[in-house]
Amino acid sequence: MSQVHVLNHPLVQHKLTLMRKKEASTSSFRHLLNELSMLMAYEITRDVPLQDVQIETPLETMTGRVIDGKKLVLVSILRAGNGILEGMLTVIPGARVGHIGLYRDPATLQPVEYYFKMPKDMQERDVIVVDPMLATGHSAIAAITRVKALHPKSIKMACLVTCPEGVAALQAAHPDVDIYTASIDRQLSDHGYILPGLGDAGDRIFGTQ
Ligand code: URA
Repeated sequence: MSQVHVLNHPLVQHKLTLMRKKEASTSSFRHLLNELSMLMAYEITRDVPLQDVQIETPLETMTGRVIDGKKLVLVSILRAGNGILEGMLTVIPGARVGHIGLYRDPATLQPVEYYFKMPKDMQERDVIVVDPMLATGHSAIAAITRVKALHPKSIKMACLVTCPEGVAALQAAHPDVDIYTASIDRQLSDHGYILPGLGDAGDRIFGTQ
Protein backbone atom coordinates (compact mmCIF):
# COMPACT_ATOMS: atom_id res chain seq x y z
CA MET A 1 0.00 0.00 0.00
CA SER A 2 1.21 3.50 -0.81
CA GLN A 3 2.25 5.94 1.88
CA VAL A 4 0.59 9.22 2.73
CA HIS A 5 3.13 11.88 3.66
CA VAL A 6 1.57 14.73 5.63
CA LEU A 7 3.90 17.70 5.51
CA ASN A 8 3.79 18.91 9.08
CA HIS A 9 6.55 21.49 8.73
CA PRO A 10 5.53 24.65 10.63
CA LEU A 11 5.98 26.86 7.55
CA VAL A 12 3.64 24.59 5.56
CA GLN A 13 0.99 24.53 8.27
CA HIS A 14 1.19 28.29 8.86
CA LYS A 15 0.82 29.19 5.19
CA LEU A 16 -2.00 26.70 4.67
CA THR A 17 -3.97 28.23 7.53
CA LEU A 18 -3.60 31.69 5.98
CA MET A 19 -4.83 30.33 2.65
CA ARG A 20 -7.89 28.71 4.16
CA LYS A 21 -9.24 32.00 5.54
CA LYS A 22 -12.22 33.14 3.53
CA GLU A 23 -10.98 36.73 3.57
CA ALA A 24 -7.64 35.84 1.87
CA SER A 25 -7.44 37.89 -1.33
CA THR A 26 -6.80 36.29 -4.72
CA SER A 27 -3.28 37.71 -4.74
CA SER A 28 -2.39 36.49 -1.25
CA PHE A 29 -3.98 33.08 -1.96
CA ARG A 30 -1.83 32.76 -5.08
CA HIS A 31 1.28 34.00 -3.33
CA LEU A 32 0.83 31.51 -0.48
CA LEU A 33 0.14 28.68 -2.93
CA ASN A 34 3.39 29.53 -4.70
CA GLU A 35 5.35 29.42 -1.47
CA LEU A 36 3.67 26.20 -0.38
CA SER A 37 4.35 24.59 -3.74
CA MET A 38 8.07 25.31 -3.33
CA LEU A 39 8.05 23.73 0.13
CA MET A 40 6.10 20.73 -1.14
CA ALA A 41 8.54 20.24 -4.03
CA TYR A 42 11.39 20.27 -1.51
CA GLU A 43 9.79 17.43 0.47
CA ILE A 44 8.62 15.39 -2.52
CA THR A 45 12.05 15.36 -4.12
CA ARG A 46 13.80 14.28 -0.90
CA ASP A 47 14.51 10.78 -2.30
CA VAL A 48 15.46 11.54 -5.92
CA PRO A 49 18.69 9.76 -6.86
CA LEU A 50 21.97 11.63 -7.14
CA GLN A 51 25.07 10.95 -9.17
CA ASP A 52 28.66 11.94 -8.48
CA VAL A 53 30.30 14.53 -10.73
CA GLN A 54 33.84 15.87 -10.74
CA ILE A 55 33.93 19.66 -10.52
CA GLU A 56 36.51 22.31 -9.86
CA THR A 57 36.00 24.90 -7.18
CA PRO A 58 38.25 27.99 -7.36
CA LEU A 59 40.58 26.10 -4.98
CA GLU A 60 40.60 22.42 -5.93
CA THR A 61 38.88 19.52 -7.64
CA MET A 62 36.10 17.75 -5.77
CA THR A 63 33.34 15.22 -6.27
CA GLY A 64 29.96 16.91 -6.06
CA ARG A 65 26.50 15.41 -6.46
CA VAL A 66 23.77 16.34 -8.91
CA ILE A 67 20.35 14.90 -9.64
CA ASP A 68 20.60 11.74 -11.73
CA GLY A 69 18.56 10.76 -14.76
CA LYS A 70 16.13 12.52 -17.06
CA LYS A 71 14.27 15.63 -15.95
CA LEU A 72 11.22 14.83 -13.91
CA VAL A 73 7.73 15.69 -15.08
CA LEU A 74 5.12 17.74 -13.28
CA VAL A 75 1.66 16.76 -14.53
CA SER A 76 -0.94 19.43 -13.84
CA ILE A 77 -4.59 18.46 -13.61
CA LEU A 78 -6.35 21.46 -15.18
CA ARG A 79 -7.12 23.97 -14.13
CA ALA A 80 -6.28 24.23 -10.43
CA GLY A 81 -3.12 22.13 -10.83
CA ASN A 82 -1.60 25.03 -12.75
CA GLY A 83 -1.57 27.01 -9.50
CA ILE A 84 1.09 24.63 -8.17
CA LEU A 85 3.36 24.71 -11.23
CA GLU A 86 5.03 28.08 -10.76
CA GLY A 87 6.23 27.38 -7.23
CA MET A 88 7.45 23.89 -8.05
CA LEU A 89 9.21 25.10 -11.19
CA THR A 90 11.00 27.77 -9.14
CA VAL A 91 12.83 25.05 -7.24
CA ILE A 92 12.90 22.41 -10.02
CA PRO A 93 13.46 24.71 -13.00
CA GLY A 94 14.44 21.93 -15.40
CA ALA A 95 11.27 19.91 -14.84
CA ARG A 96 9.13 19.13 -17.85
CA VAL A 97 5.39 19.82 -17.65
CA GLY A 98 2.44 17.75 -18.80
CA HIS A 99 -1.20 18.84 -18.73
CA ILE A 100 -4.38 16.83 -18.46
CA GLY A 101 -7.85 18.32 -18.70
CA LEU A 102 -10.87 16.45 -17.38
CA TYR A 103 -14.49 17.45 -16.93
CA ARG A 104 -17.22 15.59 -15.13
CA ASP A 105 -19.91 14.16 -17.41
CA PRO A 106 -23.16 15.46 -15.87
CA ALA A 107 -25.00 12.23 -16.68
CA THR A 108 -22.48 9.61 -15.58
CA LEU A 109 -20.50 11.86 -13.16
CA GLN A 110 -17.37 10.19 -14.56
CA PRO A 111 -14.32 12.24 -15.61
CA VAL A 112 -14.01 12.76 -19.36
CA GLU A 113 -10.69 13.80 -20.87
CA TYR A 114 -10.60 16.91 -23.07
CA TYR A 115 -6.86 17.60 -23.12
CA PHE A 116 -3.73 15.50 -22.76
CA LYS A 117 -0.20 16.62 -23.58
CA MET A 118 2.90 15.01 -22.08
CA PRO A 119 6.64 15.36 -22.67
CA LYS A 120 8.37 12.62 -24.66
CA ASP A 121 10.37 9.75 -23.18
CA MET A 122 7.91 9.36 -20.31
CA GLN A 123 9.15 5.82 -19.66
CA GLU A 124 12.49 7.29 -18.55
CA ARG A 125 11.02 9.89 -16.20
CA ASP A 126 9.63 10.23 -12.69
CA VAL A 127 6.25 12.00 -12.50
CA ILE A 128 4.63 14.21 -9.88
CA VAL A 129 0.90 14.71 -10.53
CA VAL A 130 -0.30 17.99 -9.01
CA ASP A 131 -3.76 19.19 -8.00
CA PRO A 132 -4.39 21.37 -4.93
CA MET A 133 -7.42 19.36 -3.78
CA LEU A 134 -7.72 15.56 -3.65
CA ALA A 135 -11.43 15.32 -2.89
CA THR A 136 -13.42 12.42 -4.43
CA GLY A 137 -10.21 11.32 -6.12
CA HIS A 138 -11.99 10.81 -9.46
CA SER A 139 -9.84 13.25 -11.44
CA ALA A 140 -6.59 12.14 -9.84
CA ILE A 141 -7.41 8.47 -10.43
CA ALA A 142 -8.29 9.12 -14.08
CA ALA A 143 -5.21 11.30 -14.63
CA ILE A 144 -2.88 8.74 -13.04
CA THR A 145 -4.45 5.89 -15.05
CA ARG A 146 -3.75 7.85 -18.23
CA VAL A 147 -0.19 8.74 -17.23
CA LYS A 148 0.52 5.15 -16.16
CA ALA A 149 -0.26 3.95 -19.68
CA LEU A 150 2.93 5.80 -20.75
CA HIS A 151 4.94 3.70 -18.26
CA PRO A 152 6.88 6.38 -16.34
CA LYS A 153 9.51 5.20 -13.84
CA SER A 154 7.41 6.36 -10.89
CA ILE A 155 4.37 8.50 -10.05
CA LYS A 156 3.72 10.59 -6.93
CA MET A 157 0.61 12.62 -6.16
CA ALA A 158 0.95 16.10 -4.65
CA CYS A 159 -2.06 17.90 -3.23
CA LEU A 160 -2.36 20.70 -0.74
CA VAL A 161 -5.44 19.34 1.02
CA THR A 162 -7.16 15.99 0.98
CA CYS A 163 -9.69 14.03 3.06
CA PRO A 164 -10.02 10.39 4.19
CA GLU A 165 -12.37 9.60 1.28
CA GLY A 166 -9.94 10.94 -1.32
CA VAL A 167 -6.97 9.11 0.17
CA ALA A 168 -8.92 5.82 0.34
CA ALA A 169 -10.16 6.12 -3.24
CA LEU A 170 -6.72 6.91 -4.67
CA GLN A 171 -5.01 4.19 -2.64
CA ALA A 172 -7.59 1.63 -3.77
CA ALA A 173 -7.17 2.55 -7.44
CA HIS A 174 -3.41 3.16 -7.41
CA PRO A 175 -1.81 1.46 -4.41
CA ASP A 176 1.67 2.17 -5.81
CA VAL A 177 1.31 5.99 -5.81
CA ASP A 178 2.48 7.84 -2.69
CA ILE A 179 0.45 10.90 -1.68
CA TYR A 180 2.06 14.11 -0.41
CA THR A 181 -0.25 16.59 1.29
CA ALA A 182 -0.26 19.41 3.82
CA SER A 183 -3.48 18.20 5.43
CA ILE A 184 -5.97 15.36 5.60
CA ASP A 185 -9.11 17.29 6.46
CA ARG A 186 -12.18 15.93 8.24
CA GLN A 187 -14.43 14.79 5.41
CA LEU A 188 -15.90 15.13 1.94
CA SER A 189 -19.20 17.00 1.74
CA ASP A 190 -22.23 15.69 -0.17
CA HIS A 191 -21.30 18.15 -2.92
CA GLY A 192 -17.75 16.86 -3.29
CA TYR A 193 -16.08 19.66 -1.31
CA ILE A 194 -13.46 19.05 1.34
CA LEU A 195 -14.49 20.14 4.86
CA PRO A 196 -13.24 22.38 6.35
CA GLY A 197 -11.08 22.77 3.22
CA LEU A 198 -10.48 26.10 1.55
CA GLY A 199 -13.33 26.30 -0.93
CA ASP A 200 -12.93 25.95 -4.67
CA ALA A 201 -9.19 26.08 -5.25
CA GLY A 202 -9.48 26.94 -8.95
CA ASP A 203 -11.85 29.82 -8.27
CA ARG A 204 -9.61 31.16 -5.51
CA ILE A 205 -6.43 30.91 -7.63
CA PHE A 206 -7.94 32.52 -10.72
CA GLY A 207 -10.39 34.91 -9.03
CA THR A 208 -13.45 33.42 -10.70
CA GLN A 209 -15.67 32.96 -7.67
N1 URA B 1 -12.09 20.95 -5.45
C1 URA B 1 -11.91 22.12 -4.81
O1 URA B 1 -11.43 23.07 -5.41
N2 URA B 1 -12.26 22.21 -3.52
C2 URA B 1 -12.77 21.19 -2.82
O2 URA B 1 -13.07 21.33 -1.64
C3 URA B 1 -12.96 19.96 -3.52
C4 URA B 1 -12.61 19.86 -4.83
